[in-house]
Amino acid sequence: MTNDWVKTTCPYCGVGCGVEANADESGKVTIRGDKSHPANYGKLCSKGLALGDTVVPTGRLTHPYQDGQRINWQQALNTVAKQFRDTIDAHGPDSVALYVSGQLLTEDYYVANKLMKGYVGSANIDTNSRLCMSSAVAGHKRAFGTDTVPGCYQDFEVADLLVLVGSNLAWCHPILFQRVKQAKLDRPNMKIIVIDPRVTDTCDIADLHLPIKPGSDVLLFNALLAYLAANDHQDPEYLSKYTEGAEQALHAAHADQGDLGDLQQIATKLGIDNAKLTEFMALFAATEKVTTVYSQGVNQSTSGVDKVNAIINCHLLTGRIGRPGMGPFSITGQPNAMGGREVGGLANMLAAHMEFTDDAIARVQTFWDSPTMATEPGAKAVDLFNKMEQGEIKAVWIMATNPVVSLPDADRVKAALQKCDFVVVSDCIADTDTTRLANVLLPARGWSEKSGTVTNSERRISRQRAIVPPAGEAMADWWIICEVAKRMGYKQGFNFSHEGEIFAEHAQLSGYENDGSRDFDISAFSNMSNEEFDALTPFQWPMITKGDISLHKRFFAEGNFYTPNRRARLIPVKHRQPAQDVSDNYPLVLNSGRIRDQWHTMTRTGLASKLNAHLPEPFISIHPDTAKQFGLEKEGLANVESHHGSALVRVETSARMRQGEIFMPIHWTGVTSSRARVGALVSPEVDPTSGQPEFKHTPVKVSPW
Ligand code: SF4
Repeated sequence: MTNDWVKTTCPYCGVGCGVEANADESGKVTIRGDKSHPANYGKLCSKGLALGDTVVPTGRLTHPYQDGQRINWQQALNTVAKQFRDTIDAHGPDSVALYVSGQLLTEDYYVANKLMKGYVGSANIDTNSRLCMSSAVAGHKRAFGTDTVPGCYQDFEVADLLVLVGSNLAWCHPILFQRVKQAKLDRPNMKIIVIDPRVTDTCDIADLHLPIKPGSDVLLFNALLAYLAANDHQDPEYLSKYTEGAEQALHAAHADQGDLGDLQQIATKLGIDNAKLTEFMALFAATEKVTTVYSQGVNQSTSGVDKVNAIINCHLLTGRIGRPGMGPFSITGQPNAMGGREVGGLANMLAAHMEFTDDAIARVQTFWDSPTMATEPGAKAVDLFNKMEQGEIKAVWIMATNPVVSLPDADRVKAALQKCDFVVVSDCIADTDTTRLANVLLPARGWSEKSGTVTNSERRISRQRAIVPPAGEAMADWWIICEVAKRMGYKQGFNFSHEGEIFAEHAQLSGYENDGSRDFDISAFSNMSNEEFDALTPFQWPMITKGDISLHKRFFAEGNFYTPNRRARLIPVKHRQPAQDVSDNYPLVLNSGRIRDQWHTMTRTGLASKLNAHLPEPFISIHPDTAKQFGLEKEGLANVESHHGSALVRVETSARMRQGEIFMPIHWTGVTSSRARVGALVSPEVDPTSGQPEFKHTPVKVSPW
């Protein structure tokens, strides 16, 4: 170990913990938490602590390849540029696509978005963040006029009531869970309610657990909205000064309950005890400082956006937003889903949280001085691969993600890629289900080698910094994108020599013609030098003036929403059943998600033996009675089958599951295990507004193997 500790950020979940890393002369990396980072104050979870074990050459993609043959960078860049150029010239801008990732750094994301939307002239760039939190984005936009997370992590600790909806914080965002646990120890009167069909480890600190039927969140929060209004818990001043739509939202909430009439009937429909429902309503109503945290359990649904708005409605009705301990809070899965949102990495957004309006399109084009602009949203993730299957998209470039594992109906995704004329994959890993289908493979730098910024779930921008030299010939994603862009004939716009220059341009665009009508503004960094970028310390946006270092920023305590009339909108929503219901043939509901010690497709966490020890093989969790009903033995093997595909997994019986439902992790791949990709089972149905797939509700059948 040397004396040089480099401050960087954990590459896993959206908590965005600060890490200090030390590389010795042999390249061995030692890790410790960064005590100065406001996300974690020095603490790290099991995954973060094991980061040093993952900085090894195992499995790395170290050189460019074309059709299995090693080539040099010049050949690779020229080939990709020519194929994309020729495809666009022959078939138009929408015949090509980029599929990117919340693992990219903001600077990578920025130039990828600029290339597609401002130079190719197509918005066919989408991201795997579509699978994670796009329903929250759409819900924010409907309610607030823009994609703003109103609160900050401190709200989790100072709330008197913390409601966790569809969030297994203990496993998926462990450091936030630790912060909440400590807050409850410090203030035992703080209440925690968990709303989740499963009893998870998060329930260990809960005062109340509502194991509602999968997909019934809108019904629950509509009932709460009606209850709050009926019992005089609105904030009339907040409603009249800062919002609109309360009457319509309440009308919808009442209509949603239909003939159900009283709480007993609603509780029956939710599949929970009436006493629990009543306690939840009463606690929420009586507690001023309420923070409602929601995650994939809410977002990954065909009614995900409505669920988000049903939650936000309750906070707007009570005026509990933007003050310490109060507000709805979307916690993201990936380390840089938020940074992707900020640069327009989603197919339906422009850079700097701008929408596809005529004004914004013209503004961005003027700023970029670009030859063309996409004029309408592009294909969202599932649709993008459908278009490949249909032959409309003929060339695709996939960066830092593995859609053959992670997208729903994953066997169909694989077939779409096999059919696509030209597939480029940039990755730091050589052998994945997706790299196996690439015509051209480009070696990208991974965590510990790359440098740039990420934004965590509370809008805090932090640096990732290089700790060790890159493996082989691996290059930064932003460099690869810019080199291809220049070879495609775009002489202007991509002459960056340092990631700090890209960040400075991104900052300039955030403030460009921004009269306060846009939330995302970091224009304080517009003229930043590369040296200042290298020294950048974590900060929360907005940051319009340098030195504006308030530690805990919040939005909307006094209105000032980003809608045209600056009022928030309560959105009328009604409960809808998940797209596919169980049947005699497929009688069980499949829910999917993460386990504590693995990350995505395990390419990094799978390298740490202590992380693999937690849950070492693909499995389903199933209630013992349900297992018995279908002839499954505890620790035996089961075949799981849906309309779309099948999987072979170990059986874990658990009374913490609801009967009639199974849970299966997302991590195993076709490379690590022959038949254990949950994506192959999952239905490709999506939310009609956000395009986010329904990963939490696929009808399946199980049988002993
Ligand atoms: Fe923090 Fe998440 Fe990394 Fe754990 S995985 S150290 S909670 S950022």
